[in-house]
Amino acid sequence: MRKTFDIQNLVRENVRGLSPYSSARDEYVSDGSNMVFLDANESPFENGVNRYPDPQQRSLKAMLAEKNGVGTDRLLLGNGSDEVLDLIFRAFCEPKQDNIVTLPPTYGMYKVLAGINDVANREVLLTETFEPDLPGIIKVVDARTKLLFICSPNNPTGNRFSDQQVEELLRTFPGLVIIDEAYIDFSQAKSWAEKLDNYPNLIVTQTLSKAYGMAGIRLGICMASVEIISILNTIKPPYNVNELTQQRAAQRLHRQIEIDDEINLIIAEKDMLSKVLVDVAYVHKVFPSDANFVLAKVDDADFRYRQLLERGIVVRNRSSQPLCENTLRFTVGTVEENRKLLTTLKSLE
Ligand SMILES: *Cc1c(COP(=O)(O)O)cnc(C)c1O
Repeated sequence: MRKTFDIQNLVRENVRGLSPYSSARDEYVSDGSNMVFLDANESPFENGVNRYPDPQQRSLKAMLAEKNGVGTDRLLLGNGSDEVLDLIFRAFCEPKQDNIVTLPPTYGMYKVLAGINDVANREVLLTETFEPDLPGIIKVVDARTKLLFICSPNNPTGNRFSDQQVEELLRTFPGLVIIDEAYIDFSQAKSWAEKLDNYPNLIVTQTLSKAYGMAGIRLGICMASVEIISILNTIKPPYNVNELTQQRAAQRLHRQIEIDDEINLIIAEKDMLSKVLVDVAYVHKVFPSDANFVLAKVDDADFRYRQLLERGIVVRNRSSQPLCENTLRFTVGTVEENRKLLTTLKSLE
């Protein structure tokens, strides 16, 4: 078991001493009164985007804080969750010295970001049933292990990890545990963000890119202790979430009923797709999914992938991933798109 956890022991030395860039919008925070703004070298001609955006995204954070039941001081927003993940690397991992642990087959960006930040990526494969290999993880950890990435529900396998296993990792892993919940809205499971008080080493990331239907605006959400958020705030680019993104995200978050309807439809279609896929002759296995996609093992993934392309359907061939030989990943589309997919799949010889 871990001794008392001190986040300062994990922060990179250069980051520990940094103070954040102080922008004009940080130094004078508008209270809505009618001021003349001559402080940021902006154009004075109003066109909707001539002013710099709020660097702390206060109104958007207030909405997300209420939705997720966490204080605004435990939230950091980024240009997609990819930026949030990169900030975590840059705050905590010393290039060429520190290492991280990932659990393939999983989301490819963890490895890419480790490469960009020149941090060793210790890969511990999931088990045959796509569960974390706890003893294997503990074995690769050393004094320079900073981060563990848990993607749950996991991409590309679709399953989520058991609470018990995740809890054990949170309790025993000596560094920060990042739980990537990009697909949480499609799952019956509750967000780990509810447990932030219990685990000072927990970081939860979410995104508006999947269930919220806003991949194009790039909005990633990070939830963690006040201490971790404040460290990430010192290194984030001041205007990392642009004005258009802040506006569109806020508009969308006001339409929760519509979002819930879309999520429910996707879940129903996913269940239908999973059931029907089982009956396709060359589909050998359909993996259970808590996400908006289904992973299936087929006879020859390259061949089936090409056949689908020729018929106007693009899926993802995940065969290059460990434990995923001959698998295709099908994202759930509209009712009509899914019908076309199934008709096409059944017609293939
Ligand atoms: C799609 C996805 C994301 C989303 O990243 P954004 O940068 O927010 O679009 C994050 N994590 C996983 C596992 C994903 O599959």
